[in-house]
Amino acid sequence: MAFEFITQALRTQASDALLRTRAISHGAINFCANDYLGLSTHPEVIAAWQRGANEYGVGSGGSALVSGYSHAHAALEDKLADITGYESSLLFNSGYSANQALIKALLNKNDLLIQDKLNHASLIEAGMYSPATMKRFKHNDCVHLAQLLEQYRATHTNSLVVTEGVFSMDGDMADLQGVSQQCKAHDSWLLVDDAHGFGVLPQGQNSLNQHGSLARDVDLYMATFGKAVGVSGAFVAASKEVIDYLVNFSKPYIYSTAMPSAMALCIDKALTIMMAETWRVTHLNQLISYFKQQCFLRNIPLMPSDTAIQPLLIGDACKAVYISQLLANHGLLVKAIRPPTVPVGTSRLRITLSANHSVADIDLLLTHLKGALDSTKRDTL
Ligand SMILES: *Cc1c(COP(=O)(O)O)cnc(C)c1O
Repeated sequence: MAFEFITQALRTQASDALLRTRAISHGAINFCANDYLGLSTHPEVIAAWQRGANEYGVGSGGSALVSGYSHAHAALEDKLADITGYESSLLFNSGYSANQALIKALLNKNDLLIQDKLNHASLIEAGMYSPATMKRFKHNDCVHLAQLLEQYRATHTNSLVVTEGVFSMDGDMADLQGVSQQCKAHDSWLLVDDAHGFGVLPQGQNSLNQHGSLARDVDLYMATFGKAVGVSGAFVAASKEVIDYLVNFSKPYIYSTAMPSAMALCIDKALTIMMAETWRVTHLNQLISYFKQQCFLRNIPLMPSDTAIQPLLIGDACKAVYISQLLANHGLLVKAIRPPTVPVGTSRLRITLSANHSVADIDLLLTHLKGALDSTKRDTL
């Protein structure tokens, strides 16, 4: 029988408590979305999409190089270059394809790719398919990064180091200063995937200017519109030459229908609001502090994170799913994150906070979180 592995793989997944199913989310208070600023439901953002659809239609009608590129795309690219401090930027339909595009277009057989161990699947997978030599350094460990660069850099033509700005499953921040120093010392370029940093960090709203402007030291910056911006899609910011190179040689860019112009307009509006309504970032960061403090007082052991991603390590996949179900019974949506998204034995509740939450929402979560944790403790006694 052909493709027998399909049945077997699904069976194993289920017996390991790792089966993925898609629950239709409705009505619950969502504590696992990436809509950190609550912009996905902002009336002006919605109106911008509607206006865009009236003006441009709903689809772009083609790839950017044929006929799919409009004023809306060009204006958005300019705005992103301005916001991030780079010469140029380029839109992609998703962060997944932007990451694949960068690694495919930039690295060849004699090149070196060094990634943080906890980088997103889109980066690790691109590296595995790349003809370049890929090495991974221990999470956030610049000493290990330096060792790898010393060991492998000299025997490779070009070298690219990749890290996330804010790590998607742990919520901690990269030591960008340290990483960029190593890159400079070893003639290596640096790519930062800032999917979870863009728009939300308290100082300057992204990982580059969180600790003073780093745009000069980070050669390639990637962020998505599906997280804090509240929409969908992604962009790469870099020098004009790198962007021109991608436009000419990146297949995921060239052979893909451009994002709808209406969506580009809507993203543009979301960015304007993101920068004007600074209370969103302020409120979000107040909620983060409050949640962390209250968890501490209640002996709820969160992982060390100062960002909107506040994971609670459970360990066992089955137990994580069980706690998630207990919370769902109280109208609280907190999904269990299990391997291979996170390493084996580190299943967790990835709790995310949003500017749309109120202190009362957080209090409700705290109460039922504590209750669920205590009840599972009793069950195992
Ligand atoms: C979400 C995410 C991506 C993928 O972006 P999409 O636009 O959702 O495809 C890439 N990198 C990181 C770190 C992410 O969290």
